[in-house]
Amino acid sequence: MAKDARSTGGASAYTYVDHKFDVVVVGAGGAGLRATLGMAEQGLKTACITKVFPTRSHTVAAQGGIAASLSNMGPDNWQWHMYDTVKGSDWLGDMDAMEYLVRQAPAAVYELEHYGVPFSRTEEGKIYQRPFGGHMMNFGDGPPVQRTCAAADRTGHAILHTLYGQSLKHKAQFFIEYFALDLIMEDDGTCTGVIAWNLDDGTIHRFSAKMVVLATGGYGRAYFSATSAHTCTGDGGGMAARAGLPLQDMEFVQFHPTGIYGAGCLITEGARGEGGYLVNSEGERFMERYAPSAKDLASRDVVSRCMTLEIREGRGVGKNKDHIFLHLDHLDPAVLHERLPGISESARIFAGVDLTKEPIPVLPTVHYNMGGVPTNYWGEVLNPTATDPDRVSPGLMAVGEAGCASVHGANRLGSNSLIDLVVFGRAAAIRAGEVVDKAAAVPSLNVAAADRIMDRFDRLRHANGSTPTAVIRERMQRAMQEDAAVFRTQESLEAGCRRISEIWGELKDIKVFDRSMIWNSDLVETLELENLMTNAIATVYGAEARKESRGAHAREDFADRDDANWRKHTLAHVSEDGKVTLDYRPVHTEPLLSEAEGGISRAKIAPKARVY
Ligand SMILES: Cc1cc2nc3c(=O)[nH]c(=O)nc-3n(C[C@H](O)[C@H](O)[C@H](O)COP(=O)(O)OP(=O)(O)OC[C@H]3O[C@@H](n4cnc5c(N)ncnc54)[C@H](O)[C@@H]3O)c2cc1C
Repeated sequence: MAKDARSTGGASAYTYVDHKFDVVVVGAGGAGLRATLGMAEQGLKTACITKVFPTRSHTVAAQGGIAASLSNMGPDNWQWHMYDTVKGSDWLGDMDAMEYLVRQAPAAVYELEHYGVPFSRTEEGKIYQRPFGGHMMNFGDGPPVQRTCAAADRTGHAILHTLYGQSLKHKAQFFIEYFALDLIMEDDGTCTGVIAWNLDDGTIHRFSAKMVVLATGGYGRAYFSATSAHTCTGDGGGMAARAGLPLQDMEFVQFHPTGIYGAGCLITEGARGEGGYLVNSEGERFMERYAPSAKDLASRDVVSRCMTLEIREGRGVGKNKDHIFLHLDHLDPAVLHERLPGISESARIFAGVDLTKEPIPVLPTVHYNMGGVPTNYWGEVLNPTATDPDRVSPGLMAVGEAGCASVHGANRLGSNSLIDLVVFGRAAAIRAGEVVDKAAAVPSLNVAAADRIMDRFDRLRHANGSTPTAVIRERMQRAMQEDAAVFRTQESLEAGCRRISEIWGELKDIKVFDRSMIWNSDLVETLELENLMTNAIATVYGAEARKESRGAHAREDFADRDDANWRKHTLAHVSEDGKVTLDYRPVHTEPLLSEAEGGISRAKIAPKARVY
């Protein structure tokens, strides 16, 4: 049992348990579990560390579905899916990664089906697919394609439970309710392990490994109103930054058009896929005006901006004219019951409405982080240099929302994240099978590096300033919500940089009340706050620097996309004292297959204006 030290004792004050594994995966959401399963299946000795029980990871909340061009409901192919993803990304995504994603997608969905995911079915027994925003036929010309495979509106729930069962079957070892603190890094930049705190008994676990995989999810909780779980605190980004690695494209934060007004809970885009539509205070279906072809199924950044404009121009609904209505009450209640049972419940509980009779009050709400730890399409983390923008950082991978491959570029299409989790979780396992030598010895523990990690932990545990964690966290969330919002200006972003830097300064004055090692949620939240702040500061500084509008980054003072100067990935280095250094790396503009090999036509994916 760990000591419940009352005074700081540094790294020596803790009880350690040491482990050796071929691979340690941090995170048990869809990405972490798919990676864990793939690693274990190949006979790699694999550990999966997770701060919450695996099936409580945020993936469980994914409603609408998972995109793959199965063409069960009509014509579709990977080239159309690729075009939509490229256009959705506003030409910031890496072509090789996007092609890998869409070509692997159908096989990945069938694999899930065989693992046991209970997909909804068509009359003939095929996997049911619904329309989703930005997914179209004929290289964007439309009409909307039915590409999003669904298990009613509980797709993430079904996937997560299935993958957890499969991981257990392959004897992956789970460390559940362990909080990963930091990566163990060698002086040459190789990652050789990770340290985690067992929340239940207070012991500290030092994992040595040949490969560490970050699958820690997004950082939606840097904002005041988000659809993401309270556990989405960007811990992987925090760990990577402290290990000296950059974060990529952090200025691109997706607002989902239909968060429930007030509560922030999500109403899936599948609701509009099934025929739902948005109206303003004049009862007008305003999306027809902005996106004549895709209408309510234009991509998320576009719909969120249109809603914000309607509200600004005085056509919001409600007492304060500050939100929009989503109508589903014209749809057959039997369809709602079968296809959208979960959101019927969410609307009743969180908005107090019966969606078969009344519209749901909604507002654009922070939902997804396109940015993250940069990787190639095998999930290997990149630590770019001026001469080698694709340099691999040895011993480390990142998958899922924590990573940035980059398949979503400046804006992710709905249902393209769940597919990203399984395709790249699997790719990381395939790559690990190639680069991890099972016969080699596991690197020995770098005690000096481990002690530095524990010194930081010990400092935070005994932090005795005057400001509680929750107070600083709320300041950060308010600043992000106000200054790095749907629409941005130089003024708002400069204010955002100033505020977040000031708040960074306040971290020195933080007060942790609980010094114990057992279920110390005060300390967990403090560690999470430091991680959130790292992600937040990279977001605002990256956004301030980017003088253009692209995807989710909409600047009123630079309304157009500027490919000549800004078709490049932002790299943000965040130092421990909160200094942000920005750099850039080129976008991969070449897909994998040549046209002669059946690849997508280069003319099709050349940048052009993005209209829906
Ligand atoms: C409400 C909602 C609905 C969505 N619906 C869809 C949809 O229909 N289709 C779609 O494609 N996408 C959807 N998305 C997006 C998608 O669900 C997420 O991007 C995706 O689930 C993220 O998966 P992940 O595996 O990367 O991370 P998560 O599922 O967030 O899992 C993160 C894991 O990391 C662990 N972890 C984090 N930090 C630590 C730490 N310090 N120590 C130990 N463990 C740690 C957690 O315990 C958890 O297991 C939705 C998102 C939300 C919020």
